[in-house]
Amino acid sequence: VAYQNQWDLKSAPAPTVLEPQAPGPRAKACFVVLVRNREIHDLRKSMREIEDRFNRKYNYPYVFLNDKPFTDEFKTLAQTMTKANTTFGQIPQEHWGYPPWIDVNEAAKTRIKMKHVIYGSNEAYRHMCRYQSGFFFRHPLLAEYDYYWRIEPGVKFFCDIDYDPFLLMQERKIKYGFTISIHEIKETIPTLWDTTKQYMREQPSMVSHPNLLEWITNDKGKTYNRCHFWSNFEIGDLNWLRSPQYLSYFNHLDQAGGFFYERWGDAPVHSMAVAMFLKKEEVHWFDDIGYFHAPAQNCPLDPEINTNKCHCNPKDSVYHSSWSCTKEFVNLNPNTDLTLAELLAD
Ligand code: GDP
Ligand code: MN
Repeated sequence: VAYQNQWDLKSAPAPTVLEPQAPGPRAKACFVVLVRNREIHDLRKSMREIEDRFNRKYNYPYVFLNDKPFTDEFKTLAQTMTKANTTFGQIPQEHWGYPPWIDVNEAAKTRIKMKHVIYGSNEAYRHMCRYQSGFFFRHPLLAEYDYYWRIEPGVKFFCDIDYDPFLLMQERKIKYGFTISIHEIKETIPTLWDTTKQYMREQPSMVSHPNLLEWITNDKGKTYNRCHFWSNFEIGDLNWLRSPQYLSYFNHLDQAGGFFYERWGDAPVHSMAVAMFLKKEEVHWFDDIGYFHAPAQNCPLDPEINTNKCHCNPKDSVYHSSWSCTKEFVNLNPNTDLTLAELLAD
């Protein structure tokens, strides 16, 4: 074919200068990507951006997870986006699918009733949300790591990240990091808050003091204000998710069945756990990480950072919108502590 005459790959010189890596230690950390084979090209866009902005200097490995086997094409196209180590895992069957106590006919009825809600009629989406809520951190490929950074296909990173967010987490004992917080769609979580309050009633000793419960309720616990961290971006502590505290909460929710009888998302689930179990200093807003996942973005507001490291308009940041809950998070008094007596009064 014609192009062989124009460019002989065999005679192209091998690169002689390897890019310098940022010096210093690394955390036991990885990127974790739950993804379908057909999303490979959007995934490569995400990888290109995180590599250019951060990982070409830090070389953290990627762990790809899928409920189906990854194709060879997927593996090749993912591997070629990074110099870092890549591993590809299939999800064990017992972590994806219906647990025995779920009535699948009831679940099917829910999907018909919810067909006008986004993803309301989607069965796979529910398995995905349950997996991200309770299982990804127990995948054997993640066993060796302490921290994860969740990445999705088709996301954008607007700014150079010239430090190691994993080490920041480790040094400051931060357990959960986010870029965007917003209000959840009401129809997806009718009983999530009541189920969570029931958990606190049954396991009061699990709840930490002070906590962040004030961030998710505006009426002392009567109702959930729907604030949650958007989980398509997360930098988190895997050992926190693997803790008896978090697992007992997940099991309580899982027994209640709302992943299937409603459409509970992993984002409000993670966020309620954060609110019950963590102190403000253990949660970090990565305000300096420019990030986009349709339809919202976090664009750094600090002019120094924005001008020197980013290509996004700070006016476009969801922070300014009433859809966001980040201002409320920032303004939260770190010592506020809803007592359980107050919270569970009704
Ligand atoms: P959205 O962000 O809520 O609109 O949901 P997405 O479609 O982006 O799904 C969230 C993440 O889970 C993405 O990384 C998807 O690639 C992944 N995902 C969603 N459904 C499935 C599925 O059925 N199988 C696999 N392997 N990954 C999925
Ligand atoms: Mn997504």
